[in-house]
Amino acid sequence: MLSLSGTGIGRGIAIGRAIVLDHSHRQIPEFTLSEDAVEDEVKRFRDAVARARTGLLRILDSIPPDSPPETHAFVDVHLQMLDDPVISEQPVESINHERKNAEWSLKTHADTLIAFFDGIEDPYLRSKKNDVHQVVDRVLAELLGHTVTDLSRLDDDLAGYVVVTHDITPADTVTLHQRGMTAFLTSLGGPISHTSILARSLHIPAVVGLHDAVRYIRNDDLLVIDAANGSIILGPDDAVLQEFRDRQQAHREEIASLTLLHHQQAITQDGIQVALLANIELPEDLKLLAPAGAEGVGLYRTEFLFMNRSQPPGEDEQFETYCQVLDTVSGPVTIRTLDLGADKQVDGGRTDGERSINPALGLRAIRLCLNEPALFKPQLRAIFRAATRGNARIMIPMLSSLSELDQALELVRETHRELAKEGVEFNPHVPVGGMIEVPAAAISADLFARKLQFLSIGTNDLIQYTLAIDRIDDEVNYLYDPLHPSVLRLIYRVIEAGRSAGIPVSMCGEMAADPEFTRLLLGLGLREFSMEASSLLQIKQLVLNTTVCDLEKTAKDALQCLEQDRLRNMVEQLNIDKVSTV
Ligand code: PEP
Ligand code: MG
Repeated sequence: MLSLSGTGIGRGIAIGRAIVLDHSHRQIPEFTLSEDAVEDEVKRFRDAVARARTGLLRILDSIPPDSPPETHAFVDVHLQMLDDPVISEQPVESINHERKNAEWSLKTHADTLIAFFDGIEDPYLRSKKNDVHQVVDRVLAELLGHTVTDLSRLDDDLAGYVVVTHDITPADTVTLHQRGMTAFLTSLGGPISHTSILARSLHIPAVVGLHDAVRYIRNDDLLVIDAANGSIILGPDDAVLQEFRDRQQAHREEIASLTLLHHQQAITQDGIQVALLANIELPEDLKLLAPAGAEGVGLYRTEFLFMNRSQPPGEDEQFETYCQVLDTVSGPVTIRTLDLGADKQVDGGRTDGERSINPALGLRAIRLCLNEPALFKPQLRAIFRAATRGNARIMIPMLSSLSELDQALELVRETHRELAKEGVEFNPHVPVGGMIEVPAAAISADLFARKLQFLSIGTNDLIQYTLAIDRIDDEVNYLYDPLHPSVLRLIYRVIEAGRSAGIPVSMCGEMAADPEFTRLLLGLGLREFSMEASSLLQIKQLVLNTTVCDLEKTAKDALQCLEQDRLRNMVEQLNIDKVSTV
């Protein structure tokens, strides 16, 4: 029995067998061959290419007939690339003439091809270099005798399995979830990476940031995972296994008891109405709204519609999807425009992370959309068309300057004009709000509030950018602190800006879902919280047990407190009795 620990995601307990994927960067050996080894090396290379091809054909065969057509296209593109002479023939010349080993020969030629794609101006074509990477990686894996990390090669049914790997992208998380994965463990990752957020919202227990600890885990090892405190027990004995089964059961019962609150309105003891909304990533999350008693959607991360596909969805497909969401939800639906870039790199979204050395500070979200109206406009059109069906709000992510906001608003007006001219039915009265998640926007929130109809505080990014900590870098996770005085002051500034301008202010970052901060935020004047549905009832229980006027003074005093230990004590004071039942 061995214990490992990392950063826990979610609150569940998972028990399952390990399935270890080698997702680390491959070490490519370089050496010169003796003359008599050349022929064998050429054969080794050709065999590896042939096995890679067989692997791709097997994937093609296994695609269910009802899959979207892009699924085939995606694999076909890889098959074609495998036949490209740069990948399948030129390395043979290097093996023959320079007597370099197969891995190195392949890598050098692939680097040339990748550099060629890098030089292409069109971002969509440029992003095709990711396909080159994947195809080359497939051949390298065959050469090096590693497991190919393509998720489509995994057994369809992952129920009962814990995926253990170097890193998982948000897109892979969706795929693995669809295959029933019980939990996942990664070397990399932090608590507010998009993968972690997605894991919480899909109820997948996970532990991230395990570093080298994942190396202790072998295929088929029995694992017990306690996501709440990030601990893993490898090879538990019977007593430990039983203890965790009991805790799993207790957790289920606790969740069941909270469900009794789902129909109750979130009103504090002193009669303040609090809006509790849900964050969703995919239309399938909608089924979680009613059981959680969500009053609407406070954040719809539309970029997930662009993932796991080779082409971005067109206007009509987006229209259908937004209609589906609006038809299902009776309350407000806050549709956030595309927030692609940073850790959400997707083929279908025309992003290209490797181009930017520092993607979190790069062409992301509204920056990308303003740079590529051809990507942004179909989304705007689809939203305004779908908005005739329900209570839609539109929300612009990652605003950092007023001129950016002006450009976005001009595109909104232009879209209205175009739709009107074409005689297409649309709703021109959709409220437009902005995410305040960049310190520059928080500091000038009063100015943004004059031009917008609501604000929403994105604490995941606001904390990342205020404290200069990359949200996906596990090395700096320890600095992530929602109670940092500068973060709290910015949050308060935004709440006040909204109050003075008479517009609603919501919070949709992970801080809104953490019961430790609910009372503090209520005391600072926040009245709308949006979070993954799984946290909503616990926060509601807390709201029902809170008397806001009793905590306003301490909450405001906390803003003046620069000693972090004292500040933590003040927050603890606010939270005493939070467990009392309704
Ligand atoms: C945030 O930054 O707090 C937020 C809600 O947006 P995302 O996590 O999608 O960046
Ligand atoms: Mg954000």
